[in-house]
Amino acid sequence: FYSMFAVKQETFLDDFDEPVKTLEKQLRAIKQLSQNFLMDERITDKIVKTAGYIRNHYVCEVGPGPGGITRSIINRRPKKLVVVEKDNRFLPTLELLKESCEGHVNVEIEIGDILTYNFERGFSEIPKHNWYEAPPPLHIIGNLPFSVSTYLIIKWLKEISLKTSAWAYGRTPLTLTFQKEVAERIVAPVTDKQRCRLSLMCQTWCHVEHRFTIPGKAFVPKPDVDVGVVTFYPRKYPLVNLQFDVVEKLLRTIFNMRQKYSLRGVENLFPEDLKSLLGKRLFMLADVDYTARPFEITNEEFARLCYAYKALCKEYPIADYDYRASKHPVEL
Ligand code: SAM
Repeated sequence: FYSMFAVKQETFLDDFDEPVKTLEKQLRAIKQLSQNFLMDERITDKIVKTAGYIRNHYVCEVGPGPGGITRSIINRRPKKLVVVEKDNRFLPTLELLKESCEGHVNVEIEIGDILTYNFERGFSEIPKHNWYEAPPPLHIIGNLPFSVSTYLIIKWLKEISLKTSAWAYGRTPLTLTFQKEVAERIVAPVTDKQRCRLSLMCQTWCHVEHRFTIPGKAFVPKPDVDVGVVTFYPRKYPLVNLQFDVVEKLLRTIFNMRQKYSLRGVENLFPEDLKSLLGKRLFMLADVDYTARPFEITNEEFARLCYAYKALCKEYPIADYDYRASKHPVEL
């Protein structure tokens, strides 16, 4: 592994004006790109083990960097591994890794952005599995920069809700890293101090589990935070079987006023002249206490609020009402 990394060092040398003397110094420079690498094989093995049984399966690794996790994946002999890496300076290292396992594991290197990666093209050989049966033999594993992973999970939740992209094959599981606090938010149960919009978004479409925490000191260079490894198993039946955008809108509006009665946030779903009537009506229809704070609302109660909102949308012309736009009207 370290000899692979040495190849990487040489390529990085080209990028600096003066010769870089120590690995630490080079890695500090890479930090600007949010690149924190895992060098400890015991930890990379643990992440891959957490993803479950992958032998003879298909794996997509997001952001392989110099290939620490990649190597642990390869050791478990998947049928095919596609690595999607944005930074082409890792290409020589990844190519070495690909060569080293030729004949055993089919490794495909995709230099590009995971945000635009097409899973249906990359894994077209996998037969599509019925959503309600066992998950397909496909796994997504990634240690991405924090800013990307949070954005990405929201995008992927939407695709899970639509059963498209990697979820056109069935209930593809994910094993991803987040800043520890974000991992705690994702899995936060009702009344937890970390409970937020992200908790409900993730829990609506997936069974989520914070599997373990990696101390920041395990990364090179060391980030200022610890890192949580989270698994996502798409639910057979989402807690709310409505359009992603409807659920997202309701959550955004409710959690906008985290410490107030939920009614306060919910009223912003409705135009001024209807808000006092429909706010309370929504809670009555859903049989939820409107004085509960947003973080005190259970997943099931939240689901009922979504259905009640949908029912009110049939009665009143409120579906397109956008509180934010009303506060900041477009000037003509
Ligand atoms: N997986 C490696 C490890 O654990 O040592 C590298 C982790 S590093 C935190 C994140 C990696 O994701 C970097 O190699 C970075 O270039 C890559 N990356 C960042 N944004 C990306 C994107 N949008 N698409 C694909 N790769 C990305």
